This record gives sequence, structure tokens and C-alpha cells, in this order.
Amino acid sequence: MRISLGVKTWQLVSRVFIPPVSPTAAVRWRASQTRLYCSSLPEQEKPQPSMLRHLTSKIKATGPISVAEYMREVLTNPVTGYYVRNNMLGPSGDFITSPEISQIFGELLGVWIISEWMGAGRPKQLQLVELGPGKGSLASDVLRVFSQLQSVFGEASVSLHLVEVSPALSELQAQNLTGTCSQKADAADEPVYRSGKTAAGLPVSWYRRIDDVPSGFSIIIAHEFFDALPIHKFQRTQKGWREVMVDIEPEKPDQLRLVVTPSPTLASSTLVQGFKGHQLHDVLVSPGSADLTADVDFSYLRTMAGGGVVSLGPVTQRTFLKNMGIDTRLQVLLRNCTDASTRKQLISSYDMLTNPEKMGERFHFFSLLHHSRLAKPQKPEGLRLEKKKQTAPLPVAGFTELSFS
Ligand code: SAH
Repeated sequence: MRISLGVKTWQLVSRVFIPPVSPTAAVRWRASQTRLYCSSLPEQEKPQPSMLRHLTSKIKATGPISVAEYMREVLTNPVTGYYVRNNMLGPSGDFITSPEISQIFGELLGVWIISEWMGAGRPKQLQLVELGPGKGSLASDVLRVFSQLQSVFGEASVSLHLVEVSPALSELQAQNLTGTCSQKADAADEPVYRSGKTAAGLPVSWYRRIDDVPSGFSIIIAHEFFDALPIHKFQRTQKGWREVMVDIEPEKPDQLRLVVTPSPTLASSTLVQGFKGHQLHDVLVSPGSADLTADVDFSYLRTMAGGGVVSLGPVTQRTFLKNMGIDTRLQVLLRNCTDASTRKQLISSYDMLTNPEKMGERFHFFSLLHHSRLAKPQKPEGLRLEKKKQTAPLPVAGFTELSFS
């Protein structure tokens, strides 16, 4: 269905996208490798013996560990975890994500965030929270849109809050977003472990846990974050659902294997729904050297979010970006670009993001909104006879097609 109420969002799109952006920001092209085609280096090039030792001594001490515990250790162990140690994102890393492929991705999300802030009645304070910000590229592109549309915010105060477990990545984010204008907290266990300011003076704070982000009107974005969170894995056996665990290969003390527990575990008896893991037989090799991801179960997220919110989507990345005006943005960038190789890169990064065979249908957008966002405005009491036009809530951009008429 074509909905023609998105004029405000379209106005935002035109205000951001008609002026050309700075040449340095014009294209952020990266190798055409995505997390979808995650390929880690051969194991012998990146051995992580300390992680393997850590896991085998843990299993020896307490028995097989769940896949969730394995993922937690491998990805976020404070000393040897994959995200804590490695610079895995980008052309020389193990995988690349949409914000790293093209600036357009973050710009369209910037427009979406402003549109949602307007739809929520322009609260005086906006906390933009990002979970797992990687290199900080998405936040940086969003903030560029914020600067271009500064007048829309008026008196509202805007701040950025990053939830990140990796010290190495938080350094990178700080460089990208604040240059040299950030400092670490004095004590290592401070909830805000780093803070700084962007060149435009916007405050940025870093946390390890979302619970430490101050309360206040917040728009939370999480890109390629939920798939990095630990999952439990189950297998259906003749005796019912059983949990799959990680154990040591009996004949080979430095190799891991998957086993099915003979009796129910706490997880298998409490969870009715299994989760689908991601090539788990491969990920037992050289733990800590490669990324682990799981398919995101959106219906589970919806159930866990409960009745306090309304959910939209999931819609495919292609649908969302097209609804947000990616074609128009591409045309503007191409119009302002004469260099043949940059034009080629612009087109291929657009293709990577939207092609159904590439990232277009593999990745999805999902949104949880407060009920009030989509509620019909209440009829004022005592004016029942007055035929006043009721204004409908702003449609949620990206999830419905925008009308440019
Ligand atoms: N959003 C970025 C990076 C995705 S990779 C992008 O799309 O490019 C996953 C990110 O989540 C990394 O920054 C990683 O360090 C972070 N991360 C993983 N597990 C986390 C956890 N439990 N808490 C906070 N951050 C986490």
C-alpha cells in the first residue's frame, strides 16, 4: 500500500540530501566482503592458544559448557575475547557491515531517527543510544545528518551514548567521533568508562552495560548486535528437547566437540523454543580467532519486549532503504561526482546494500516503539460538537513507502 503521509520525512531527506556532502564523506567504500560471507583467516595464521586453554580448563573443572557460555567467552572474555582483542571490522578484518560499505546507510538512519524524534512530539532531550557501535561509522554518519539539520532540533539537547564491551573498539569509536576530545574514567569500574565531545560539542559517553545509560527519552539503535549475543542450542531427541553443549574431544585434549546432554538442562526445560546456531561445527576450531553469529529471532525479541511496546517489521533491508529514499540519495551523489571509479564504487555499494542476492534480503529492520507513538491523538474533552480535524500520528518512516508527491 502506498501511503502519502510521509511528506515531513521526505522534507528531511531533501534537506539533507540535496546539498552535496564533503568530498571525504562522499564515499566510504570497503571491500565487497560482508559479514554474510564472513571469512576468517586460516586458523594457523591467528592461533588463540590462551582462549583454547582457558576453555579446556573450564570444561575440565565444571564439565561441558553451554553454547551460550562458549559464545560469551569466545566473543567478550575481557582478556582474550574476539571483540575485546581484535580489529575485525573492515577490509583487512574478518567481516564488513552496511555502515562500513556506504555512508548512505547511516545518513538514512539519521533521517529516520530525526523523523521518530519528531513523531514522538519533539522531546526536549534526545539520547541517541547505540548498542555495539563497531568502528563508530554509523554514529558518525548519523551525527553528520544531525549537524545538517541542527535547526530542526531547536532548543532540544542531544547526546550520544555508546554501549560497547571492547576496549579496542571503543578507542576506535572515540577517535572517529571525538578526535582527541575524550578521556577514560579514572577508575576502571566506573559505569561511564569513557566520555568526550564531538567537534560540534555533542557529549558522548561509553558504557559496558545498557542498564548504566541514564533514563530519559532515548532512541536506541542496534546494528548487527543481536546476532552477536550468546544463544543456547537445542536438539530434538527421542527423549524430547536436549541442550547441545561444548565438550573436549576425548582422544584429542586440545580439540572441542559438541555433545547433546542426556538429561534436561535448566535452559532446555525453561525455553520452549530452540534457536538456530550458525555453522557451529566450524566455530569450535581455534576459538577467539573468528566471529560467531546467530540468526536473530525477531519473534523472540517481540515476545521479550512485552506488551509495553508496538513492533514494526521485520522488513528487509532493501525495503527499508528504498522506503527511506536510497535511490534519490544515490542519484544526488552520482550527480555530484565526475570521477569514474568513485561512481562505480557508489553504484556497487548501493547494489551490495540493496540487492536481494547480497545484503538486501539477508538483513532486516525491526523497530520497537512506545504505544503512544502510534496512538490516535485523544479527542479534547468538551469539544464533541466541534468538527476539528484530528491529526494522525506521523507514519514510521522506512516501514511504509514514502510519497514524494
Ligand atoms: N554495529 C557495528 C558493529 C557490529 S559488530 C556495525 O554494524 O558495523 C558487534 C559490535 O557489538 C562490536 O562493536 C562488539 O564489540 C559489540 N558487542 C558484542 N557483544 C557485546 C555486548 N555483550 N555488549 C556490548 N557490546 C557488544
